[in-house]
Amino acid sequence: MTKLVPDSPAAAKVFPSPNHGERAGGQPPRLLILHYTGMAQAAEALQRLCNAASKVSSHYFVFENGHVLQLVPEARRAWHAGLAQWAGETDINSASIGIEIANPGHAGGLPPFPEAQIAAVVRLCQDIVQRRGIRADLVLGHSDVAPERKDDPGELFPWRRLAEAGVGHWAAPAPIRSGRFFSPGESGAPIEALQAMLALYGYGIDITGVYDRRTEAVVTAFQRHFRPERVDGIADASTISTLHDLIGSRPGPLLA
Ligand SMILES: [Zn+2]
Repeated sequence: MTKLVPDSPAAAKVFPSPNHGERAGGQPPRLLILHYTGMAQAAEALQRLCNAASKVSSHYFVFENGHVLQLVPEARRAWHAGLAQWAGETDINSASIGIEIANPGHAGGLPPFPEAQIAAVVRLCQDIVQRRGIRADLVLGHSDVAPERKDDPGELFPWRRLAEAGVGHWAAPAPIRSGRFFSPGESGAPIEALQAMLALYGYGIDITGVYDRRTEAVVTAFQRHFRPERVDGIADASTISTLHDLIGSRPGPLLA
């Protein structure tokens, strides 16, 4: 039976997608994952998320004008994250609630998110994190949990504004200045330390001591979320300092 009343008062109505399953172990969601749709038209994206053949979905969908639909009940496992991981958790779909935000994304020129849409995202996220007790550092972007595959919700997504509204973990980005930095291809103890810090925050990264493709992708994802002024995959002093501040201000221990 389709539930007709949304789980969140921030959603106007239920618009059901058939694409969902059981959460593994019946676990309650501990993470909140934000996406952009990456399609030119919101209607097209919504249609895809509700088409059984696509095998993708999300719990919520937010239009540019701030209209919010619920596609999948929160109790169910929606199919939004794909191959992803955070803090050792590899079944992100079972562990999370997913929100798709209509935006053409990088492929569509990365247009800014309209004010009405962001206001709606803030209201929806505030309700979910409060009602579900989702910890600030477990509100993440798709690119955080799938850094080599995904760029969403992108560096224009206003994470700082969300944090000011009580949603997500934020530390003021350290100013960009000259100094020692680490780049793809380098290796050694400092690279090991960088990888260890990224893993300590939750990113899925192996401590190889080599600034490999994965490391570059993870640094890029980190910058998109936490130091959006420059997104280049290079671990400069500002990037490392911002990461350090986030680890130091994490609201609890790393997800086990
Ligand atoms: Zn996504």
